[in-house]
Amino acid sequence: MGKRIVIALGGNALGSTLPEQMTAVRTTARAITDLIEDGHQVTVVHGNGPQVGMINTAMTTLSREDRSCPMAPMSVCTAMSQGYIGYDLQNALREELRNRGLNRPVATVLTQVEVDPKDPGFQRPSKPIGTFMSEEEAEEMRRRGNAVMEDAGRGWRRCVASPLPKAIVEIDVIRTLVDAGQVAIACGGGGIPVYPTEGNHLKGAGAVIDKDFAAELLAEELNVDSLIILTAVEKVAIHFGKPQQQWLTELTPEEARKYAAEGHFAPGSMLPKVQAAVKFAESAPGRTALITLLEKAREGIAGKTGTSVRQA
Ligand code: ADP
Ligand code: MG
Repeated sequence: MGKRIVIALGGNALGSTLPEQMTAVRTTARAITDLIEDGHQVTVVHGNGPQVGMINTAMTTLSREDRSCPMAPMSVCTAMSQGYIGYDLQNALREELRNRGLNRPVATVLTQVEVDPKDPGFQRPSKPIGTFMSEEEAEEMRRRGNAVMEDAGRGWRRCVASPLPKAIVEIDVIRTLVDAGQVAIACGGGGIPVYPTEGNHLKGAGAVIDKDFAAELLAEELNVDSLIILTAVEKVAIHFGKPQQQWLTELTPEEARKYAAEGHFAPGSMLPKVQAAVKFAESAPGRTALITLLEKAREGIAGKTGTSVRQA
C-alpha cells in the first residue's frame, strides 16, 4: 500500500553552490522518484541554509557597490531561494519521472508561512545559514554586527532568527495539487516568513524558519502517514561524535525528549529534526517520522534503516 509522505530535504540534497546543486538534484530526484515508483504520494520540502546565505551575501554586496539598490530583506532572500532551488528540483524531477515512464506533473509553490512577531525566536538568533567560517572570520562577522554560532562541531556560520511556523498561507493550493496526484515542492527553506499587519496585508519577517518544523506543519495539514527527514546521517545517535556513540533505530517521543534534554542533539541541526519528528508522531495515532540518509529513503520507508519516531 502506498503511503502519503512529506519529505524534508537537507543541505546535502542540494549542495552549497550553483554547480553543486545542478549535480546534487539528480541524485535527489532519483531518491524521490524511487518512492513515487513504489506507489507513495510524495510532497517535497527543502532547506535553504547555504543558498539563502549566498543570496543574502550577494544582495548585500550589490547594495554596497550600488547605493541605488537597497538591501534585500531576509524574507525576499528566502523567496529567491525557493525560486531557484524549486527550478532545479522540478527540472530534475520532471526528467527522472519521464525517464521512468511516470508522467506526473511537478510544480514549485512559492509558499508564505505565518509566524508570530512575538515569537521568542526573534530575540535570539539560532539558525545557521551560509558557508562555514573559521573562528577568526566569525569574529570579524560578529564585529560587523552579525550573529554567528558554532554549527555542530563543523565550524562557524552566520545565524538568523528562527521563529516557529504557525500557518501555511498557500495550504489550499498545495492540497489541491497533492489531491490531484501531482508532485508539489512547497514550504522551501521553511517558507517565506510573514506576519499579518493592517487589513489583509502580510509583512515579510527578517528570519528563516527551520524547514524541519515547516515540513512537520505541512505533514499535519496534509494529514500524511509519514514525515521523512532526509539528511547527511543514516541514523540519529546519542553521544554523537564521541567514543561511546550509539546509533538509534527506534525512538518513542518520551525517549527522544529525554535524550534532547540531556543535550544529545545539536541545536540548529539535529535537535529541530528530532523535535519535528516527535511533534508529528504525537499529532495523531499511527503517524510515523523517520530520519535517515537521502540515499536510504527507499530502504528507510520499508523499515530497513534510519531512526523512526513513533508512539509506543
Ligand atoms: P540538514 O542540512 O539535513 O538540515 P543539518 O546539518 O542541519 O542537516 O543536521 C544534520 C547533522 O546533524 C548531521 O549531519 C550531524 O553532523 C549532526 N548531528 C548533530 N547531532 C547529531 C546526533 N545526535 N545524531 C546524528 N547527527 C547529529
Ligand atoms: Mg538543518
